[in-house]
Amino acid sequence: MPVPDWVPIRDDLREFEPYGAPQIPDVICLNVNENPYPPSAVVAADIAESVQEVAAGLNRYPDREATELRAALADYLGHGLTGRQVWAANGSNEVMLQVLQAFGGPGRSALSFAPTYSMYPEYARDTHTDWVAGQREEDFTVDVDRAISLINAVQPDVVFLASPNNPTGTVMPFDTIRAVLEATPGVVVVDEAYAEFRREGTPSALDLLSQYPRLLVTRTMSKAFALAGGRLGYVAADAGIIDALRIVRLPYHLSAVTQAVALAALRNSDELLAQIDQLRASRDELVLWLQEQGFDVADTDANFVLFGQFADRHAIWQGLVDRGVLIRETGPEGWLRVSVGTPVDMEAFYRALLEVLGR
Ligand code: PMP
Repeated sequence: MPVPDWVPIRDDLREFEPYGAPQIPDVICLNVNENPYPPSAVVAADIAESVQEVAAGLNRYPDREATELRAALADYLGHGLTGRQVWAANGSNEVMLQVLQAFGGPGRSALSFAPTYSMYPEYARDTHTDWVAGQREEDFTVDVDRAISLINAVQPDVVFLASPNNPTGTVMPFDTIRAVLEATPGVVVVDEAYAEFRREGTPSALDLLSQYPRLLVTRTMSKAFALAGGRLGYVAADAGIIDALRIVRLPYHLSAVTQAVALAALRNSDELLAQIDQLRASRDELVLWLQEQGFDVADTDANFVLFGQFADRHAIWQGLVDRGVLIRETGPEGWLRVSVGTPVDMEAFYRALLEVLGR
């Protein structure tokens, strides 16, 4: 539904629709890369107890600087980080917006390599930042020479590198990240929303933080941490960068409830993260199964798989929905993305897809 003509919205926003994957009740949700395992009753009770405690003080504003939470996130990340080098917000989506508010803006530009996370250009639009999209290769990797030529030409203020990338699952090698950091005059955000799902031996850009003061590494509790409903994303960077983000944040942007929930989740991180190995194993099985069925499958280090190629991907997506399985119609034309669910979810997906294909 477009905005009605009489609504005096900005001209450059008029044509848009709000972002969102379909939310359909009573289906198996394999469309937004969540962790399919809910917190156990014990963890849920611990979270509830923390919320109960802060509920008694909700007449007061929360800690504006989320000091305790940032210290706990720094501890979780390790690498000798302290709370001064970590910033938290309502999902890493809010972190991205704050990055563009602080480092983008009119007369400035942001750059990434498509196909990639579809929200980056929207935040660029919202902050009047020029958006430049380089292209990934056929295998969804980024060619370093082409990337550096583009960066040299554009001189971007912000570069977003999702690794593992959404929707393709592709990780970016360190050499490419380093080359981008060296060529970029502005800040480089390595978006590690799916970092915990990387295959053994794949490094994190956190290892590069101490060498590159203009590097930001974003993470989220929405995926591996099984806390998408809690809305907590965060970023690790030099304290100077964090201070720049603090300038644009709304006062009291992180509610006391959110801070308490995230702290309780971090206290229970061992349990919340316990399913990761199983999810990675299911991911690898899913890749093999799709390959055995003859599909093209993007190499993935995330908890989702991009596969294709379909002459009419919408028909396949709809056929799956009709059979109670919701995946995502995203990425390049002809491809579909499926998140890794429980073994029961995966069986349902396999069965439904074979049925839709008439096999
Ligand atoms: N980055 C990437 C690459 C993502 O796929 C997502 C969520 N789909 C996010 C960031 C944002 O997640 P959240 O706001 O839940 O932290």
